[in-house]
Amino acid sequence: MEWITQLQQIVGKDHVKQSRAQLAAYSFDATAGFQAMPDAVVSPESTEQIAAIMNVCRTYKVPLVPRGSGTNLAAGTVPSQGGIVLLFNRMNQIIELDEDNLCVTVQPGVITLDLATYVESHQLFYPPDPSSMKISTIGGNVSENSGGLRGLKYGVTKDYVMALTTVLPNGTILKTGGKLAKDVAGYDMQSLLVGSEGTLGVVTEITLKLIPLPKAQKTGIAYFTSLEAAGKTVSEIIAAKIIPATLEFMDRGTMDAVEQFMNLGLPQDAEAMLLMEQDGDEEAVTRDVEQMIALAIKNGATHTAVASSAEEALRLKAGRRAALSALSRKRPTTILEDATVPRSELAKMVRAIEEIAIRNQVEIHTFGHAGDGNLHPTCLTDSRDVEEMKRVEQAFAEIFEVAISLGGTITGEHGVGEMKSPYLEWKIGAEGIDLMRTLKQAIDPDNICNPGKMFAKSTKPRVVLHYG
Ligand SMILES: Cc1cc2nc3c(=O)[nH]c(=O)nc-3n(C[C@H](O)[C@H](O)[C@H](O)COP(=O)(O)OP(=O)(O)OC[C@H]3O[C@@H](n4cnc5c(N)ncnc54)[C@H](O)[C@@H]3O)c2cc1C
Repeated sequence: MEWITQLQQIVGKDHVKQSRAQLAAYSFDATAGFQAMPDAVVSPESTEQIAAIMNVCRTYKVPLVPRGSGTNLAAGTVPSQGGIVLLFNRMNQIIELDEDNLCVTVQPGVITLDLATYVESHQLFYPPDPSSMKISTIGGNVSENSGGLRGLKYGVTKDYVMALTTVLPNGTILKTGGKLAKDVAGYDMQSLLVGSEGTLGVVTEITLKLIPLPKAQKTGIAYFTSLEAAGKTVSEIIAAKIIPATLEFMDRGTMDAVEQFMNLGLPQDAEAMLLMEQDGDEEAVTRDVEQMIALAIKNGATHTAVASSAEEALRLKAGRRAALSALSRKRPTTILEDATVPRSELAKMVRAIEEIAIRNQVEIHTFGHAGDGNLHPTCLTDSRDVEEMKRVEQAFAEIFEVAISLGGTITGEHGVGEMKSPYLEWKIGAEGIDLMRTLKQAIDPDNICNPGKMFAKSTKPRVVLHYG
């Protein structure tokens, strides 16, 4: 094909892969149930090469799907309309650490944990910490506006993006932002690009804000015999003007799976667990953790503990960290979802998820970021069982419906991609979809960049819910 020859001329023959095995390896991502073969997998080494690739794609109307590590959970990197998968494995350099302006400039293929470790070695801190950070890329984090366990206190990726270089669908190279704390010149195009999931262009260079590394950190844990008591503790912690660095949650089903997997000796009578962490100055950290534990006890926590060393902290955190791996051992297919509600509605949402799972005869357990209401109802299922998958889909539709009715959203951090696209209108309304489509059409009139993502062919009909 003529366009393949042109791509080979741009990046070199070795960096355009076309064998069946290579194409199959990039036909899916971390999302269950979605797969499609690309026509080629291309690894450029510079912004200029990506601009040239974009021009070829535009001329020949070839879809271009940017892909970091493919850890997204919304089928965002599945090449559902064929075309090329664009990799950043040759664009993974930390370009500059600027300690005067407290920022770091990187290529999109840098692994999140590598960046965090690098800046920490300079006593600096990059707070966004998606659970996938050992493998996710910064380009993927920016394009999904990823959050993490520290989101409540420190915010999410968008709060740290200072400047971007982006190759637009018309082949031009756009630079936005800079090393500035303040910049209000014109429309905030950078905010539009962050979280745009590769649908508006390809991000090729990123400058991220850093902050000083906190001096101390402390971890506590509390187990409750009711979800409501855990939920009340979360609200009272915030009402007491404590903003914990992390405040994580697991339900009974998740704890059972963790216990079977790791034998940690988790309390048998607990219905919910809260993992609490604070960082900052030593004195404030100790005071905040003691106060959080006191609030948990006041609300009826049956078991509590505070780590007195880094090793003990790791032990307390081990259960929550293993939640997903423990759950995914139970059935062939694991669907990790991302419904988010105001934190005051946490207990109500978890109860609703339990009822929905029972009504639809599917197995769903929930863990997540209690501090910011970002829950991960996780369905243990088998994608080969067509009947069961229909019930799973119905259950998730009901979960999203309830999340929205409680003032929440269909995704707090995993993005829309292809999987959530039918639900987007539920959250942003027909006017929201119209405006987003107008923007997409203006920036990418040929629909080259990650087509089929974000905008569904049709909206999911609202499910009819029967409560009580
Ligand atoms: C076990 C597990 C835990 C997770 N935990 C979290 C979590 O705590 N918080 C969270 O937010 N997410 C989480 N995720 C989801 C996922 O890891 C994040 O969305 C992450 O940011 C994706 O990074 P990636 O490099 O894998 O990107 P990919 O999955 O490769 O891509 C994600 C999207 O960004 C686009 N893209 C990638 N690079 C570029 C680029 N340079 N320019 C333009 N578009 C680009 C892709 O087209 C795609 O739409 C988790 C996933 C897993 C599997």
